[in-house]
Amino acid sequence: MHEYSIAEGIVLTIKKLREVNNLNVVSEAVLSIGSLAQIDKDVLLELLKILSTEYGLGHVNFLVEDEESMFKCNYCGFSWSWSQVKDRIMRELCEDVKDCDNPVHFIPDLINVFMGCPKCGSQDFKILSGYDVKLISVKGVRND
Ligand SMILES: [Zn+2]
Repeated sequence: MHEYSIAEGIVLTIKKLREVNNLNVVSEAVLSIGSLAQIDKDVLLELLKILSTEYGLGHVNFLVEDEESMFKCNYCGFSWSWSQVKDRIMRELCEDVKDCDNPVHFIPDLINVFMGCPKCGSQDFKILSGYDVKLISVKGVRND
């Protein structure tokens, strides 16, 4: 499962940070999830809970922030965010369907098919942020 490998990567990183910083207890970890990340947040948090125990971290309070996806046009240099274009794209993809799931969310590699630069229309752009999960910070108590 996709979420499993991400959760394991995060827990192993926290474990490493705990060793390097000589922390007795890790109390809190802040993560960010990109708006285009293919992640089920609830599944990820559940796995983090299980794996923290399994890897001997004990109880860690995981906080999740949303990271906005940002794009930059390779042709004209314009940059924009997912929230700026989301409504329009969803309307085009779903028309009047309510609760339409976002295909871009599940297949971010196809974003260039669904979206063009809002300024020049070019489909040659790069994703600057918001397509993955990041560990932002870790809080703990030092062993002195
Ligand atoms: Zn452009």
